Amino acid sequence: MRSAAVVDLEAVRVNVRALVASTPAAVMAVVKADGYGHGMVPCASAALDGGATWLGVAMLEEALDLRAAGFACPILAWLWTPDEVAALEQAVGQGVDVSVSARWALEIVQAAVAATGRVGRIHLKIDTGLSRNGSTAADWPALLTLAAAAEARGEVEIVGIWSHFAYADEPGHPTIAKQIARFIAAIEVAAGLGVHPQVRHIANSAATLTLPEAHFDLVRPGIAIYGLAPVAGDFGLVPAMSLRSHVALAKRLAAGEGVSYGHQYTTERPTTAVLVPLGYADGVPRSGTNRGPLAINGKRLTISGRVCMDQFVVDVGDLPVSAGDEVVLFGSGRDGEPTAQDWADAVDTIHYEIVTRVGARVPRVYLNADPAAIVSTL
Ligand SMILES: *Cc1c(COP(=O)(O)O)cnc(C)c1O
Repeated sequence: MRSAAVVDLEAVRVNVRALVASTPAAVMAVVKADGYGHGMVPCASAALDGGATWLGVAMLEEALDLRAAGFACPILAWLWTPDEVAALEQAVGQGVDVSVSARWALEIVQAAVAATGRVGRIHLKIDTGLSRNGSTAADWPALLTLAAAAEARGEVEIVGIWSHFAYADEPGHPTIAKQIARFIAAIEVAAGLGVHPQVRHIANSAATLTLPEAHFDLVRPGIAIYGLAPVAGDFGLVPAMSLRSHVALAKRLAAGEGVSYGHQYTTERPTTAVLVPLGYADGVPRSGTNRGPLAINGKRLTISGRVCMDQFVVDVGDLPVSAGDEVVLFGSGRDGEPTAQDWADAVDTIHYEIVTRVGARVPRVYLNADPAAIVSTL
């Protein structure tokens, strides 16, 4: 195979088991964005094997894809627009939980309930300080009053009240305590209006790993289930994805030759240049030009010159490298290869983006897909 994103599903199971063991709360595995690039359906299966009991996604069609794949567990979808009436109706019809941050959203759920005859399962979202999705505190009582009335009529079930942190990845940041206090206040306002949800949830991976007081009834780890920690520390997580390729050509170049578009790199001496068939169309950041790390035959090297759409070049000096040799852009780091964190450091982003952006052209190859057949332990 030319290139592949190799995903070890046993790593996902191990990571989810560790998260489940770390909290009395239920665990919602977040598998949005094609499982952060790892593949939504295989990772959802592995997460449930590991003890997660909920699945979380951003978009309605992601939730519908999970239902179509046969997942019967609770699934929450939290980001949708008034244009998505048809998808919302399907979601309600298939028992997908949907987030509601405003009156218009509740009204669309009620219309879907009328059309499908199913009770709408909603999670009311309160903005506690991220200023992204969620009701403001000012609009919250009116939203609760409408939702409580709809619940009293048997139209909806208020399954959850929830929120999201701005700074959970900086333990001790003053906004964290403030957001928890606002969240508790919003739950108390709800109780005062007779709204008692089954689950209250605010914790992403960082809060799941570092902030037990924010676990409430349900935690929503995403990046951690793929083995990447959003905060420094050893949490026993195992990175699940390794991005691999093979050398497409190796050849000697003379000193003073410009390499790749715009000659951003020039050979200093006679050397071996190696061509790798991955580019920005495959998710290799173009900003990895002259910076991106990789390993070839176990040796740590750096991309030479521009990352192109489909390929890049590496000056390997006098190392013995031939067409067909293995290239690892990132992996768990266990064999000395760079990690997604190393890539993030090199190109000034976060490891979330490095794994999630791996392109659709790169096949995903799964290791340990069958939990009954695991022989090696990680
Ligand atoms: C993506 C997301 C999560 C998971 O966040 P991680 O940092 O990957 O754990 C949880 N909740 C919401 C609302 C999200 O958008």
